Amino acid sequence: MMSFVPTRPLPYGRQHITEADVAAVTAALHGDFLTQGPKVAEFEEKFAAYVGATYAVAVANGTAALHLCALALNVQPGQRVITSPITFAASANCVRYCGGEVHFADIDPATGLIDLQQVRALLEAQPKGYFTGLIPVDFAGLAVDLEAARKLADEFGLWIIEDSCHAPGGFFVDSQGREQHCGNGRFADLAIFSFHPVKHIATGEGGMITTNNEALYRHLLRLRTHGITRDPADLQRPSDGGWYMEMQELGYNYRLPDFNCALGISQLQRADAGLARRRQLAARYDAAFAQVPGVQVLAPGRPGHAYHLYVIQVADRKGLYDFLKTKQIFAQVHYIPVHRMPYYESLGWREGDFPLAENYYAHGLSIPLFPTLTDDEQDYVVSCIAEFLVKS
Ligand SMILES: *Cc1c(COP(=O)(O)O)cnc(C)c1O
Repeated sequence: MMSFVPTRPLPYGRQHITEADVAAVTAALHGDFLTQGPKVAEFEEKFAAYVGATYAVAVANGTAALHLCALALNVQPGQRVITSPITFAASANCVRYCGGEVHFADIDPATGLIDLQQVRALLEAQPKGYFTGLIPVDFAGLAVDLEAARKLADEFGLWIIEDSCHAPGGFFVDSQGREQHCGNGRFADLAIFSFHPVKHIATGEGGMITTNNEALYRHLLRLRTHGITRDPADLQRPSDGGWYMEMQELGYNYRLPDFNCALGISQLQRADAGLARRRQLAARYDAAFAQVPGVQVLAPGRPGHAYHLYVIQVADRKGLYDFLKTKQIFAQVHYIPVHRMPYYESLGWREGDFPLAENYYAHGLSIPLFPTLTDDEQDYVVSCIAEFLVKS
């Protein structure tokens, strides 16, 4: 029945670069600034407006964004921070960069998101002040209920870094029925995004921090550039002259060049179209898999889902992964639970610590989902999955 065969390999995600993107980068390369020029502030302003936050700080990548957030929130050696075991390791690593201890709360198996009930249980089992922060992750593009997370955080004196790498354009609906967009700074102290090519907006490498907190914003600007300020309002001593600047603390070079920002600005113009196509493809998958016994879709039909990933769960995940590879379909697994990484096991975490995350990992598979995936290519993916399940 299936006669269509794709003419290209189908990865789980890929970037979409148009001639307009190429022209925007070329124009930036012909400009006066390759870095530290006007495209940085323009990208920041437009990105802040896109997610509905007051401030945005462009940085070298999503991991740098997390590191700067941990620094700005003053994570200290020995401080304890909670995140999800089902995330990219960087969500946890940023705490380790500052010498903090990473703790995990298990996931809600219906969504793949950190379970706030489990977070509460963890917090209640210890004296107040035992934990200092929470890093929830909008896994696969589904927004965490940050209104609930904020209540919990306030009760126990925690800050929140929202890892929104999967969810630009995503939202949850709050208790008043309002859409709260990922990274809008309404509930989280800071939110971070990545512009790695598999994410919604690609700049090669790139990242962004958003916040509504002016003090954190100003601190992040300094930390991004070696801890140096030239702002007359921030100087601790009288200026020696026009060249004067002060390095006031230990910062980094985590800047994003102008031509990457030019690409980001151009990509941002298509972000809504890309998101709409992701949602359309997800709805087509949802409908198709409702007819395929043996496929369980993670969190189907949720309002506000930004669909960085489309995750299915099957009994024989490795069998399906290997079979799809023979069909030129390159599915991926997101994620090996962070606590099972040898590095985190060396810090004392063990298999069995977070059984729901581990069970999710045993069955989950991210299948192709990106804006340029065609209906025919998607139908081919579905038919290959159905073919495998009939055989096995
Ligand atoms: C991609 C990603 C990061 C890291 O972003 P980079 O730009 O690759 O450094 C962090 N957290 C999550 C959830 C991600 O998906």
